[in-house]
Amino acid sequence: MTTTPLPSTGAAAQTDTAHTADTVDTVIIGAGQAGLATGYHLARHGRRFVILDANPRLGDNWRCHWDSLRLYSPAGRDSLPGLKFPAEPDSFPGKDQVANYLETYAETFGLPVRTSTRVHRVTALPKTTSSMPSDDRYLVNCGAVQFVAHNVVVATGTFGRAPAVPDFGHELDPSILQLHSSEYRNPGQLQDGPVLVVGASHSGCDIAFEVASTHRTILCGRDTGQIPVPLESRRMRVLFPILWFVWGHVMSLRTPLGRKLRNHGRLHGAPALRVKRTDLTAAGVERVTDRMTGVRGGRAVLGDDRLVDATNIVWCTGFHQDYSWIDLPVIGEDGWPLEQRGVVPDAPGLYFTGLAFQSSFRSMFVGGAGADAQFVVQHLMTHQAERVAMLPA
Ligand SMILES: Cc1cc2nc3c(=O)[nH]c(=O)nc-3n(C[C@H](O)[C@H](O)[C@H](O)COP(=O)(O)OP(=O)(O)OC[C@H]3O[C@@H](n4cnc5c(N)ncnc54)[C@H](O)[C@@H]3O)c2cc1C
Repeated sequence: MTTTPLPSTGAAAQTDTAHTADTVDTVIIGAGQAGLATGYHLARHGRRFVILDANPRLGDNWRCHWDSLRLYSPAGRDSLPGLKFPAEPDSFPGKDQVANYLETYAETFGLPVRTSTRVHRVTALPKTTSSMPSDDRYLVNCGAVQFVAHNVVVATGTFGRAPAVPDFGHELDPSILQLHSSEYRNPGQLQDGPVLVVGASHSGCDIAFEVASTHRTILCGRDTGQIPVPLESRRMRVLFPILWFVWGHVMSLRTPLGRKLRNHGRLHGAPALRVKRTDLTAAGVERVTDRMTGVRGGRAVLGDDRLVDATNIVWCTGFHQDYSWIDLPVIGEDGWPLEQRGVVPDAPGLYFTGLAFQSSFRSMFVGGAGADAQFVVQHLMTHQAERVAMLPA
């Protein structure tokens, strides 16, 4: 890595600290499955890069989920390129197994990950030699340390990491314990009294099923459907390869159906895989298919105008993307990047990996990260070769 003096005007002048930055060909932001898979492909081509992650330890993005979380995809489908997931292929790994696998993955391939390094800002640097496209460079500001890079790959999460909680949550009585699914670990965190779980996709169904063993539980939210085969059954072993094919090749941006499903897939929950309607009923969960619509007198109101006397509310309402730290006009009005299969046409050298439905429904799975990363790296290399060819001799 070399050091670049930063110009004293323009974007660089607004940085927090240093007046020099490390120069590297590519900065990858995020060391989850998408960032690591991108690093793997760059390393295979002998490229110089660094992977930055805000967390203190690789895999923490998985360790922080609720204690009992196990994948919905079997280990046989959970591998990143070049390293098999170390578990019996038909088993369903727990969150810590995934975390440890990511850590081992980075070690195995010697990927240059810098942990405890949050990126606060990405800006375009003023061109130094000319206005030629070959001169596009980005400044990646992490506070004390900064990088200048020709390419930046943003791999900061599938649906984003910012908890999406309705605004009316603030109007709830302060005595009600509110947790977002990203804060929920186990039923021991909850107060005595009924629990309202808001949102009935995978996390909502899993958490409602679990807390019903200790608390009276109401699960509200639209029914997102269900795959009518038990996840851990022999029938699912036969069905899963078919689903995997459909998720990768039919629900893909290459098909009209896939293009139609993309927005739906990004905004709404997917059909239940592990905890089904009958499991919820058997566990004693009261299922209300209305949404929570507001708050009255400090209490939750459901769509049928019913007031719920819950002492706990678990928001399983998902996440939203927060790209406010990317100081470039590359985010659309819907909050999603203006990209095509991870390539940002308006910002040469800027890429995204790991987005929900980046190329297909499979994109959000561990086992789908490799193909999308490979596409992005291939584009990056071809594009950079073209940029170098345009430089003055
Ligand atoms: C409840 C749940 C169940 C799941 N089940 C499955 C499953 O069954 N099978 C499966 O394959 N996948 C599953 N997933 C995976 C999920 O679908 C995601 O696709 C996956 O976690 C995304 O990986 P990623 O690398 O894109 O992002 P993440 O894992 O979110 O990693 C992003 C990384 O970026 C870092 N970061 C973010 N912002 C910055 C910044 N500004 N600067 C520096 N670093 C930053 C974060 O610290 C994080 O480490 C599940 C996820 C959840 C939450």
